[in-house]
Amino acid sequence: MLFSELGLHPDLERAVKTLGWNEPTPIQSKAIPVALRGGDILGCAQTGSGKTASFVLPILHHLLTKPGNGLRAFVIVPTRELAAQVEICFKDCGKFSPVRVASVIGGVGYDRQRKSMSGGASVIVATPGRLLDHLKNGRFKMDSVQYLVLDEADRMLDMGFLPDIRAIISRVPRDRQTMLFSATLVKKVDQIAAFALRNPERVEVSRPTETAEGISQVVYPITQAQKTDLLVALLKATEMRSVLVFTRTKNRADRLTQRLSAQGFSVGILHAGRTQGQRMGAMENFRSGRTQILVATDIAARGIDVREISHVINFDVPQNPEDYVHRVGRTGRAYGVGDAITFCDREEDPLISGIERFTGVVFPRAMLPTFPYAIKPNLEPTKAKTFSGIRFRRRPVARSRRALFRR
Ligand code: AMP
Repeated sequence: MLFSELGLHPDLERAVKTLGWNEPTPIQSKAIPVALRGGDILGCAQTGSGKTASFVLPILHHLLTKPGNGLRAFVIVPTRELAAQVEICFKDCGKFSPVRVASVIGGVGYDRQRKSMSGGASVIVATPGRLLDHLKNGRFKMDSVQYLVLDEADRMLDMGFLPDIRAIISRVPRDRQTMLFSATLVKKVDQIAAFALRNPERVEVSRPTETAEGISQVVYPITQAQKTDLLVALLKATEMRSVLVFTRTKNRADRLTQRLSAQGFSVGILHAGRTQGQRMGAMENFRSGRTQILVATDIAARGIDVREISHVINFDVPQNPEDYVHRVGRTGRAYGVGDAITFCDREEDPLISGIERFTGVVFPRAMLPTFPYAIKPNLEPTKAKTFSGIRFRRRPVARSRRALFRR
């Protein structure tokens, strides 16, 4: 399918061309026609699939083709970073259109936000908490809203936003078009879908457990004590243009950042303990290539969109298989190619097994031949039948002893 076949407003077709997008991604081919017809959408797509433009382009099309005043479209997202990216997508796709976009997110002064909201924006991208503050204080009204998007709904639920979202939706006129996107269509998403959507069309591009195509995934068995050294050695031994490194905690992110800086690498840091300004700065430096490495925790990294990420490194194995899929979804974006490397200490073996069962892929184990390993890595995947959250079957003792011996 070609963009020209979708029947988008000429200003949008032109913008898409200048962005270098040759054809719609699968989610765009499926969702855009439904959205242009005015139908509600229950969309299942991961970050990296091009899902943002699949609601941004139809909204812009409606705003350009149907006259109206005031605030007309609302997009609710779980994190500030994602809000920034959705805003960028609106600005990119709307570069030849007079549509004004503003964001309402935590960590930014209320006054500044009030000004940008009263400045005639027809689209607002918001995080739920701050938006609700403004609504409760009567600072602005949603009476003229015709288009509502709930992006990464599963994540918003994970973060406990369900009551806020309900409160927000109840303030938007019932006669509207609603699009809900989620990386996974788990049962709890039905809770929002049931009261937010009307006869939605379900649009799905891939099973939620699938990681994006084009990503090669590999596990490096390594002890906790040597993780930093191995990371430094890998960074020196291979050509990694832009690397996103995930750690389990803020403290670990801070410590790792210090050690990488001390080794002369250009590093940024992104976690919930940083101010909004610091987080924006870190993202901008990484996006523009001024820093080679961005160290992040899961919560802050959701929605990071840097098209050129060459490597994702899981310095710590994520606790949930879903987080793994989200993390590696940062690379290979929009069907590019990327590498995802996971460092795995012996204690983390069960987590890896859970991820392998969830994704249906057994990752090859690898080692860096020149690295002075304190304990020889075991390059055989553990076949433990453990799966966090569903069932936990103990590994046979003999097997774990053998593994211990080999290492
Ligand atoms: P998203 O899944 O919305 O976060 O988008 C992932 C990335 O794909 C972003 O960097 C977009 O700019 C890019 N993108 C979106 N649509 C297309 C397209 N049709 N062709 C190429 N890249 C795209």
